[in-house]
Amino acid sequence: MKIGILPIGQADIAITLRIQENLVRIFPDTTCLVIDAKLPLFEKAFDKKRKQYRSSVILSEIQGYAAEKKGLNRVLGVVDSDIFVPELSFVFGEAVCPGKAALISLWRLRPEFHGAASNMELFLARALKEAVHELGHTLGLKHCSRSSCVMHFSNSIFDTDKKQSLFCDQCYLQVALSVNNLG
Ligand SMILES: [Zn+2]
Ligand SMILES: [Zn+2]
Repeated sequence: MKIGILPIGQADIAITLRIQENLVRIFPDTTCLVIDAKLPLFEKAFDKKRKQYRSSVILSEIQGYAAEKKGLNRVLGVVDSDIFVPELSFVFGEAVCPGKAALISLWRLRPEFHGAASNMELFLARALKEAVHELGHTLGLKHCSRSSCVMHFSNSIFDTDKKQSLFCDQCYLQVALSVNNLG
């Protein structure tokens, strides 16, 4: 599978590079690059009342971008702004399931956001888990009931910290099959 990481707005390039390095270790037969496109954050996605960005609007922009990038199987957008879907107060990410586009937000992943001391490794581990989770959805995976599996739903940062960045055996089988079917 060929994954392109698409930084959007002010997303930190150093973090996207570390995600890139790690994704190829987690997904089978996968290459990954950071797209040098410098897309601005889509202001039409901003909700003035909630002061957050509408996740699905950004995701559909990524989908449009991914449709044109024939050489890539998946495009993972990375934003550093707070994103939401109408039924939840926030989301860590969203994906087309199955599809070519995924999105994660770094906004709530920094320990500082939760009143803790800055910790780059923790921040990176969280970003990686969310990236793997959303890319898992693009391969058709649903949420997994095992709390240590990366496909477990994260309702809060505690859920994210509790799970690993890896798929459980059952989910990994599905990932391997889906990646294989991409050709
Ligand atoms: Zn999910
Ligand atoms: Zn699982």
